Amino acid sequence: MTGERHRSVHIIGGGLAGAEAAWQIAARGVPVVMHEMRPLRTTAAHKTSALAELVCSNSFRSDDREHNAVGLLHAEMRRLGSLIMRAADANQVPAGGALAVDRDGFAQAVTAALETHPLIAIRREEVAGLPPADWDSVIVATGPLTSPALAAAIGTLTGEDALAFFDAIAPIVHRDSIDMAAAWLQSRYDKAGPSGSGADYVNCPLTRDQYAAFVDALVAGDKIAFHEWESSPYFDGCLPIEVMAERGRETLRHGPMKPFGLTNPHTPVMKPYAVVQLRQDNKLGTLFNMVGFQTKLKHGEQTRIFRTIPGLERAEFARLGGLHRNTFLNAPKLLDGTLRLRAQPRLRFAGQITGCEGYVESAAIGLLAGRFAAAERLGESLLPPPPTTAHGALLGHITGGHVETIDAGPRSYQPMNVNFGLFPPLVHAVKGEPGQRLRGTAKTLAKKQALCRRALADLEHWVAGDGHAAAAE
Ligand SMILES: Cc1cc2nc3c(=O)[nH]c(=O)nc-3n(C[C@H](O)[C@H](O)[C@H](O)COP(=O)(O)OP(=O)(O)OC[C@H]3O[C@@H](n4cnc5c(N)ncnc54)[C@H](O)[C@@H]3O)c2cc1C
Repeated sequence: MTGERHRSVHIIGGGLAGAEAAWQIAARGVPVVMHEMRPLRTTAAHKTSALAELVCSNSFRSDDREHNAVGLLHAEMRRLGSLIMRAADANQVPAGGALAVDRDGFAQAVTAALETHPLIAIRREEVAGLPPADWDSVIVATGPLTSPALAAAIGTLTGEDALAFFDAIAPIVHRDSIDMAAAWLQSRYDKAGPSGSGADYVNCPLTRDQYAAFVDALVAGDKIAFHEWESSPYFDGCLPIEVMAERGRETLRHGPMKPFGLTNPHTPVMKPYAVVQLRQDNKLGTLFNMVGFQTKLKHGEQTRIFRTIPGLERAEFARLGGLHRNTFLNAPKLLDGTLRLRAQPRLRFAGQITGCEGYVESAAIGLLAGRFAAAERLGESLLPPPPTTAHGALLGHITGGHVETIDAGPRSYQPMNVNFGLFPPLVHAVKGEPGQRLRGTAKTLAKKQALCRRALADLEHWVAGDGHAAAAE
């Protein structure tokens, strides 16, 4: 055992990510000092002084490990000795196929486990600037509501455009659910650009009547109100589409739905009245985002209204749109493959501030950050989990899977829940019983099942190669 091993890793923030990171580090025999500002200073969403407080819903979403990406993430976290999953399982409330928890019991269980751990010290204080120079290993897990003083310091370190204070999320669609008999591939005016082919966008055409009905639906659709503390976060031309629609019936047609420079090869002589464009979102090419379609419409309304767009009638959404107060880094540019800030590698980031979305995802990234930091402290190397696992797929989104296109601007990277679109496709097509051809829902389910099986098998290989995996169990 070296002296290195006895030096603490500092964690700033005791939310979902910080709590899981602390647990994983201490499980490997490395001491932790956690700095949590509550209750001395609180955020606009937290109400208690408990660690890992759930600020809104009490659901960890689907617990189906065979057909659902977040259910798979649960299963992987359990396999990796997650404290968050242990506390969630011990505090379940009935919720059908979802994993929902008694929020107070859950947060108390996490708090007690960390407070009583001999290798974890918890200091109730705000870190109001960059950590002191003698903290040589730090995990910043301060979440979507990072305190203003720390956010300002991080902003100065990373550059103005690299830290966003609102997300402006456009819906993302699984590419294979778009009907290409109605849509077509083309870049506006066939421009190839530096990395394109001239046919980079999926275009969905609307007639005059379809456009009019679409605008009516947007204006009438049910919206989510902003919290008082989020007041008017419209910025940088990131207006929600329904606000644009309210400003004038033709506004969208001269904005994100402009039809110019595009010819529909299915009906070349008839110009579309308006066009919805979708742009590739990940390197795998499995996900496409609806360009300029950030929205505050309720999720059910988005699905209903967007499926009226020709070509998107059967669209499967990997993510629906939104606009929230949210502090997050342009992680693919700034972080290396083990979540360290390239410009200052003593700082590692975890949780929602990295651009993942959701309680479970934040905790999962905390789990990985904790394991990377512990391995580093112990002088060991730890490879990232394979991209075929839910942890690896999510890490891939954060550290490189997203594609940044020049015309999308500096903020094209937006938060994301885990979903199957982030996983590399299966190498072999799924097959039914001998002589039986899979179609429709049966095929989709079989594909998801195969992706989950592959993930859990590949996770076992990763665990076997990670000398510390057994310690957390
Ligand atoms: C209003 C709101 C509602 C949400 N609802 C949901 C939902 O229903 N379901 C869901 O899955 N996700 C939801 N999220 C998204 C997200 O998953 C959660 O915010 C999640 O808690 C993120 O985990 P985290 O560990 O990254 O951050 P947090 O859990 O927020 O933890 C960050 C911690 O850092 C502390 N902190 C901040 N700055 C400092 C500092 N300078 N010094 C010391 N401590 C500091 C905070 O007090 C906090 O305890 C919501 C987010 C918001 C803002």
